Amino acid sequence: MRACLGLLAAVLNGVHCWVLYSPVDKQSSEPGYETGRDGRVWVSPATFNLQRVSLRWGLPQYLYGNAGLNSGITFAFHPDFCDRLLPLFPESADHLKRSSVLEDQFLSCVDLQDTVKRAMDTWAINHLKIYFRDVTEQCLDSTSYDRCPAAELLIAPDKPGGESITKAGDLAAFVTHDLATLDQKPTTTAGFEIDGLGVRHAKMTIRAPLDDDDFCWYLDTTFCYGFHRWEDAITALRASFLILFMIALVILIAVFACGIRAVFFRRAPPRKGSQSRVLACGSERLTNLLEYLSDVPTITLLLAVFLVIFCPVFYYRIFLPCWDCYDFEATVAHEIGHVLGFHHPDTEWALNLKANGDGIMNFTTCRESLNHVHLDPTRQLEDSIMFSLTKRRDRTCLTADDLEGLNFLYPVCEGAMRPKVATGEPLCIKGKRSGGWLRLIYVVFMPWFIVSCIAIIAQIGVRWHIKRRLRTMEMRMDSFDTVSVQP
Ligand SMILES: [Zn+2]
Repeated sequence: MRACLGLLAAVLNGVHCWVLYSPVDKQSSEPGYETGRDGRVWVSPATFNLQRVSLRWGLPQYLYGNAGLNSGITFAFHPDFCDRLLPLFPESADHLKRSSVLEDQFLSCVDLQDTVKRAMDTWAINHLKIYFRDVTEQCLDSTSYDRCPAAELLIAPDKPGGESITKAGDLAAFVTHDLATLDQKPTTTAGFEIDGLGVRHAKMTIRAPLDDDDFCWYLDTTFCYGFHRWEDAITALRASFLILFMIALVILIAVFACGIRAVFFRRAPPRKGSQSRVLACGSERLTNLLEYLSDVPTITLLLAVFLVIFCPVFYYRIFLPCWDCYDFEATVAHEIGHVLGFHHPDTEWALNLKANGDGIMNFTTCRESLNHVHLDPTRQLEDSIMFSLTKRRDRTCLTADDLEGLNFLYPVCEGAMRPKVATGEPLCIKGKRSGGWLRLIYVVFMPWFIVSCIAIIAQIGVRWHIKRRLRTMEMRMDSFDTVSVQP
């Protein structure tokens, strides 16, 4: 019974998964790990040693070397990185037309670079030997979109007009490893030299089209993930926005029409005991207008104004960027997984791997770690930062499966990180941005607040003016009546 429940739970919870990246397979006519796909050849360590076709960063051959993981994977941002990417964020100056005083409150180049570093740390904090080191200063004069000699990893926007990513549909970023400079005898993070493929240089290309108005990124994941939960109710949500907007518009049109009627067609009764009406502002129409404005129901009017502003602005300026744009942090965290040598478990499901036994790295498994895994080809997958979809994803942290893959591609004999006992999740760094809320205040509530203040002040002023004029005129007419009845 307990076994059945365990099996049921495994099915319901999905299956553990991680997939290695083996680009050499794709260029080879020999069957291997990736070329096999459904007709794969690698079935178990008895077929061949998986580490021979797996891509990984290694330690330098000599202890005093600085390459690879010995001094951290050095990375640099291309000089055009911020200039090309910043305009594609809804928080940016181009979108908000804001003043430079508020610039740093929304988005700056440093914010973008910090987000990339945080995505790197998502992997690095879960491993003793993996970390990244920024050497951008040494690449400021480099204009090449392919390589900066000082950096092992170049992070660049796509080459203007030079690469296919701008027309590649859903592709938001991709990673290429320099296969010409692979180290055929890398030293693993456990300190053992192996027959394998050691990465020396890689490049992350991030989509930044110059001529595609529809493409955009967003940064405030915490804010936007709230909207992603509405995915199942998106049609109802859009209909609600439209209905609210229409109701508010009808109210405003009605208020306007009543105003026209009151100004042009109203004939107020004359003052009691008099032949004529008391005019507060000289002309009858102006008096009608002021009287109408002073009588308009303030709360209803402000609510209608709010909805007329809120619905379209919220939908187009707040909701759609979170819905249609790409999650920058999740995408970069995903691409760092490619940089490290992982592939998509959801698209390459036939190549999914799982550690044997309890999957705990130790002195027995750390030497030939990939000899202690087996194929687990299944489509019923739980979750992974390496899932191919980056639009409307709500994951910038590793799953337990990602961590297992990290530990087996980058083994350490002692001190391998484990998921937290309380949550079953690896360590995770959460960004603390508030750009989404600031944007909401800036583009929705601030205009409404200003309009409301003007409307309330104007109405108070009109009421006060009418009252004062009427009192003055009535006093004059009373004195005139008194004078006219004297014998
Ligand atoms: Zn990918």
